[in-house]
Amino acid sequence: MNDKSPRQNSNSSRSGSNSKNWLDMIAMAIRTPVFDQHRAVYTNRTMRFGQIDAVGFDFDHTLAVYNCEALDALAEKLVADRLVEHEGIPREWLQGVPDPSFARKALILDLDEGVILKTDRYGHVLRAFRGKKKLTVSEKRTLYGDRDIIPHVTDGDRFIQVDHAFSRPEILLWTALVDYTEAGQRRALWEKIRKHTDLIHRDGSLKSVITANPSDYIYPDPRTEALLIHLRDCGKKVFLLTNSEWEYTHAMMNTVLGRDESRGTEWLDLFDVVVAQGNKPSYFDPGRGENATPGVTDKVLIGGNLTEIEDRLGCAGPEILYVGDHIYADLISSKRNVYWRTMLVVPELEEEMVIQSGMPGLVSQLREVDERRISTEREVMHWKAVEACLQSIEGVITEEREGVKKLRQECHVARKDASDTLKDFIRQREELRSKLSTATNEYWGSLFRAGSELTHFGRQLEDYACAYTSRASNLLFYPSGHYFRSTMDYLPHELESM
Ligand SMILES: [Mg+2]
Repeated sequence: MNDKSPRQNSNSSRSGSNSKNWLDMIAMAIRTPVFDQHRAVYTNRTMRFGQIDAVGFDFDHTLAVYNCEALDALAEKLVADRLVEHEGIPREWLQGVPDPSFARKALILDLDEGVILKTDRYGHVLRAFRGKKKLTVSEKRTLYGDRDIIPHVTDGDRFIQVDHAFSRPEILLWTALVDYTEAGQRRALWEKIRKHTDLIHRDGSLKSVITANPSDYIYPDPRTEALLIHLRDCGKKVFLLTNSEWEYTHAMMNTVLGRDESRGTEWLDLFDVVVAQGNKPSYFDPGRGENATPGVTDKVLIGGNLTEIEDRLGCAGPEILYVGDHIYADLISSKRNVYWRTMLVVPELEEEMVIQSGMPGLVSQLREVDERRISTEREVMHWKAVEACLQSIEGVITEEREGVKKLRQECHVARKDASDTLKDFIRQREELRSKLSTATNEYWGSLFRAGSELTHFGRQLEDYACAYTSRASNLLFYPSGHYFRSTMDYLPHELESM
């Protein structure tokens, strides 16, 4: 297949009965000034889209929107069967697999203790479960000390962060089996589950079921095709960079785009370059020497390295925007090593926003109670300081001591009243937070926030994603020269004067 200019390619893909659909979609998206906030792109670092010359996409859970319930159930069954057949785990132990909502990305596993944790950005343990049992405050302190702090997570240590969308079945199986293990066996149990999960991905047993019934596992998103055409029409290069094999990517791409399978490799016309088996994150290592092997057309590369793709695209570093769903493999390495601009796809964002927008009264009530708590807290501090001051004076003066004592007593009463009011606001705030958090996820609360702090995931999102959104196709709602403006960072004293 000969390579063509972006405009020629996009024109060729317009032919056929879908042309009016995508044209209508683009017209609607660009002319509609009010965006659905659940489908918006949120910006951490200002980015001029007009200065982006190439936009790249990951495949799994980025362009390919999976039916996670069906996919996780399939993976869980395949791994469970292997644990029974190859590891001798009794089938009945697997009957206690928890509700799927228990498993989510960005949880932290304590491999030695068999505990699953949610922490804030400082490593403070907020929630913890061993098996399906939620740990009490004293149980958490027994494990993690008086301050409930765990060290920052690093690979291979006692604590690991499970941040891949494919990891949910592993969490469910580990949770079901932890109660049957003794201390010292839990890390080995996790490693067995990991091994068999890797195997079902590598030996094709998972993908063969998916490719046989793609519509059971993929939600087609027709906006994706419109987006790819739109980007190329605007003169941007478009590429796919995935760790998945070419055969699997090709087999699924027509379903992803909502196209008829008979259209074969026509989907390649939507891209300038396609890299399969990219082996991210090491793909982003500037010293990686591995060269690509040719694919089915000159547009397709198998493996390779960063220099090759940047040469093909004719641009480099911050001229490239890469969109992916994996905080480490897609974002941290590309941002740290090669300075590509990054966009994280977080489907949970849309879920959380829908839930919270369904409870507007609760959110505004929480905001109001919190504002009143802060002002009452200041009042308590004020009375405390004045009372202490009067007490000091009372000890040294010889005149007007009774008058000062009376004033101090008045302060004491005022401080006590304010303290009681403060306790009431704190109680109300915790009740409201708990309601909101439980509505979001009854086990873990928000993915992004832990009380007044960001979660560990929220901090990574802030540090490494230039922008984030719930679906890759949300980019369609933005013109190619859009100025993605970050929200301003405020110091506490600046917020005070707003
Ligand atoms: Mg992915």
